[in-house]
Amino acid sequence: MEYVVGIDLGTTNSLCAVFRNGQPELIRNAHGDVLTPSVVGILQDGQVVVGAPAKELRVTSPDRCASAFKRLMGTNRNVSLAGKTFSAPELSSLVLRSLREDAEAALGGPVTEAVITVPAYFNDFQRKATKHAGELAGLKVRRIINEPTAAALTYGFHDRDADKKLIIIDLGGGTFDVTLMQIFEGTLEIISTAGESFLGGEDFTDRLVATVLKQLGMALETAEHKTPLLVARLREECERAKRAFLTEELAVVRVPEENGELREDAKRIKVSREAFAKVSGELVERLRKPIGKALRDAGTGPDEVDDVILVGGATRMPIVRETVRELFGREPLCTFNPDEVVGLGAAVQAALIADDAAVDDMVMTDVCPFTLGIETAKQFAHQTMDGYYTPIIHRNTTIPVSREEFFGTMTASQTEILLQIYQGESRRVKDNLKLGELKVTGIPAGPPGQQIGVRFTYDLNGILEVEAYIPETGRRFVTVLTNHARHMSEAEVAAAVERLRAVKFYPRDDVKNQRLLLFVERIIGEVPPMERQTLEETLTAFEAAMAAGDREQFAAVRQGLLVVLSSLGIEYDDYREQPDAEN
Ligand code: ADP
Ligand code: MG
Repeated sequence: MEYVVGIDLGTTNSLCAVFRNGQPELIRNAHGDVLTPSVVGILQDGQVVVGAPAKELRVTSPDRCASAFKRLMGTNRNVSLAGKTFSAPELSSLVLRSLREDAEAALGGPVTEAVITVPAYFNDFQRKATKHAGELAGLKVRRIINEPTAAALTYGFHDRDADKKLIIIDLGGGTFDVTLMQIFEGTLEIISTAGESFLGGEDFTDRLVATVLKQLGMALETAEHKTPLLVARLREECERAKRAFLTEELAVVRVPEENGELREDAKRIKVSREAFAKVSGELVERLRKPIGKALRDAGTGPDEVDDVILVGGATRMPIVRETVRELFGREPLCTFNPDEVVGLGAAVQAALIADDAAVDDMVMTDVCPFTLGIETAKQFAHQTMDGYYTPIIHRNTTIPVSREEFFGTMTASQTEILLQIYQGESRRVKDNLKLGELKVTGIPAGPPGQQIGVRFTYDLNGILEVEAYIPETGRRFVTVLTNHARHMSEAEVAAAVERLRAVKFYPRDDVKNQRLLLFVERIIGEVPPMERQTLEETLTAFEAAMAAGDREQFAAVRQGLLVVLSSLGIEYDDYREQPDAEN
């Protein structure tokens, strides 16, 4: 049987899950992990690696790697790596393709359909870019769902008989989302959602990197430009320090050389948890606003919420937990692993789409996270002022939704109206996001106030369609909004699919070896000179065996390398055979 997989395509980590045997189940990648870092790397020979090996490579060769490209979805910005240029959807499609291959290996058959999650606050362009990424990976995207909604589905699936209000607070690598929901007799109703699409754990790491650089007399932007290798390695160090604050008061950051090398005698900078809290205070403050907005929109006080649920890796930070605890006056819950809960929920959504019997008593409704409308003009005395925003679909309306409004011409004999379509909450369009336009022509000439109907339809994927018509003539104009510059014809999509198909992945069966090689290359500079020789020799033998491709002889060499690493006290999280999940 063919499954619809659920995919959490994250800024930092992605994962894939499938619903089978009556429950959602995570899929392991070629390294035996459930999380696949959303990093793409191009090896010297041009082959592509995705995930853990690319993350190793990013430290030593940042110019051959791309990460955090989710932040560029829906924009026209491209990324170049190893001299090649990719768009954000193309890079995302490589991550999706890698997950798809893992799913095919785990499920033993082709995987062609998926549910993909996006931050609730993703706008129309970003959602379309995500859908496009799916298509480029050869996946039919059955549904785009909001990440906090997916998280809610995981909680709702396991607690469906409850009668309670939950708030889901999701702080990932790059985005922040808050969703308030009600569970009642198997019905999961999303009441309100709010968020920020540029706030996440990576910003906290950046603050730490900037602090350390400042102590060295450098600004982050200049350093990134002048000494990218130093910054790439320093970012790894700061990521480690940030995680250390979970248990430690003090973290030590080693300062790499300009060439990115981390010497044994590297300069060490101490950062206290308090100092970290201070530099990231502004980020923490920004968490409050969307939480307040989601509560206000729902007319709910913090004390009326039954469960406060944390999702996303960055909610592990003590400063984030403290803020949430303080806002709600109670301990937040984290029943499911915050890294996995969105992916699991995507699989529950896939089960709902596939009409799986295990979820036939569940119903889920979601909302439109922002207001959608058009630009209109206002008449003051003898003056016409344009630039005003008239909402058609208000934020937090249950979806799917279709609303119609009528608008009139402004001047006598006006036969055309150019509808400017916006998303946002401001009274003036200049402060909102323009999604597109639709020209209505052939309006019968007459006095001002000739009517046209404008219908906004917002579907379950969060994608907007605008339709206009002239009641008098019945003529209709339709636009499925497209990001002007990013819009591709079917032929162009097909060409892009072909181009990406030509991208060769490092063979899946051997990629765990490539990861080990890249790992050792990353850490070899940190090994004391006396011991480095042994490691170098073993690594060379390993590389030679990889090149020779003799699997039998190879296993012994690989084992040898792992033994050397462990004798040096270097931890390596090697592939483990997983116990069989089915029984
Ligand atoms: P996304 O869904 O955006 O890919 P994740 O939910 O996987 O993000 O969270 C990734 C973020 O969580 C990263 O910025 C990472 O640094 C942060 N993170 C993960 N574990 C910890 C931890 N123990 N302490 C602090 N931050 C953490
Ligand atoms: Mg996430």
